Amino acid sequence: MAPSGTFVIVGAGLAGAKAAETIRAEGFDGRVLLLGEESVRPYERPPLSKEYLRGEKDFEAAAVRAEDFYAAHAIELRTSTRARVVDVGASEVLVDSGERIAYDRLLLATGAEPRRLDVAGADLPGVHRLRTLSDADRIRQAITPGTRVVVVGAGWIGAEVAASARQLGAEVAMVEMASVPLERVLGLEVGAIYRDLHAAHGVEMHFGVAVESFRGGDRVEEVWLTDGRVLAAEVVVIGVGVTPRTELAESAGLAVDDGIVVDEHLATSAPGIYAAGDVANAFHPLYGTRIRLEHWSAALNQGPAAARSMLGEPTVYDKVPYFFSDQYDLGMEYRGWAPTWDRVVFRGDPGNGELIVFWMRHGRVAAAMNLNIWDAGEALEGLVRSRRPVDPSELEDLDVDLAGLVLP
Ligand SMILES: Cc1cc2nc3c(=O)[nH]c(=O)nc-3n(C[C@H](O)[C@H](O)[C@H](O)COP(=O)(O)OP(=O)(O)OC[C@H]3O[C@@H](n4cnc5c(N)ncnc54)[C@H](O)[C@@H]3O)c2cc1C
Repeated sequence: MAPSGTFVIVGAGLAGAKAAETIRAEGFDGRVLLLGEESVRPYERPPLSKEYLRGEKDFEAAAVRAEDFYAAHAIELRTSTRARVVDVGASEVLVDSGERIAYDRLLLATGAEPRRLDVAGADLPGVHRLRTLSDADRIRQAITPGTRVVVVGAGWIGAEVAASARQLGAEVAMVEMASVPLERVLGLEVGAIYRDLHAAHGVEMHFGVAVESFRGGDRVEEVWLTDGRVLAAEVVVIGVGVTPRTELAESAGLAVDDGIVVDEHLATSAPGIYAAGDVANAFHPLYGTRIRLEHWSAALNQGPAAARSMLGEPTVYDKVPYFFSDQYDLGMEYRGWAPTWDRVVFRGDPGNGELIVFWMRHGRVAAAMNLNIWDAGEALEGLVRSRRPVDPSELEDLDVDLAGLVLP
């Protein structure tokens, strides 16, 4: 029997919003509540380090849905509302105002928060982290042409902020403990492409070094590095990774292990409670293990998948992981999951900015990335999903049709 009653979603980000609209699109006619602690309706975060930060797109362009959408679909969107406790025994969510909301199904889509840097001066005004619209507004307002910006951490967010800040005319320095940007995900060879890109755009780079402290009077003025170097700074943006927001799930006694543990249907260890998006550490049937993805596409697709499971149509989430990044005039898409690899294969010339990279494990394509090439996505996804052994020399050969390699 299809469930009825009240569906509550905690977290009004992309995963939560997409779940709410799917619940309605599937014909559920009970109550749907979407609770979010931010003061604005759901929006997508990728523009916050790109077009929104540069003032090229406004909030409406980033919003998941128009303002009237939620009321029109009888979705009770409550902004500025934080869920404090989930009472699993009573099937209730306690919110900040003291109200208790009873649920028949509950989705936790609480996302992630940026890690703090545990060094002196990290709380000085002018030292920022970037997750929310208001973070982006603060950073945007602080950057004018010539502003000295220091980006700490050259992961995706740090690298994108560095690019946007340069595009806004700031003087940018990047500090990273690894030896190239994005080394953990892309490795040395491909990370070097991003190093060269930022160097070509005038970013001053400091690799293999950490921050010792931030120093200044009323505001940050200097970034001291562990090797004794001192960088002048008016604005600092720290991008050193995120932590899943599991506090509600933990206090409710759900299984938590680097995120809320869910099965392939996105169901948690407690009946009637599901999790999706950045906070979910989900069993992925393609890999036979749990993976917590911090990608826009996972939030976009896991929200609807969880919604269907909540409605009693158990839906297996087995999409090939996908993310994208834009820095200056270099756009890329990455498909797959390659925590380790034994070989990197290039198709095209890394020097000319248009190429495809394959990360191989045991003769199979674990992940593939297209840089400024926009017609290969389907074939790359097919190669990753098929997990067939592939001859690297065929991947390299521009005369070999990639789509032809997908089929057995
Ligand atoms: C600046 C930036 C740029 C990015 N760029 C890219 C990109 O180019 N490509 C890509 O693939 N991914 C990108 N990402 C990652 C992507 O945005 C995330 O994977 C995605 O936002 C995850 O969505 P989510 O709904 O799971 O979580 P979130 O977007 O974090 O939303 C969760 C929401 O839940 C709310 N919440 C948490 N706890 C509670 C509570 N107790 N009560 C009420 N509300 C609560 C939070 O305030 C938040 O609004 C980027 C992220 C950032 C920050």
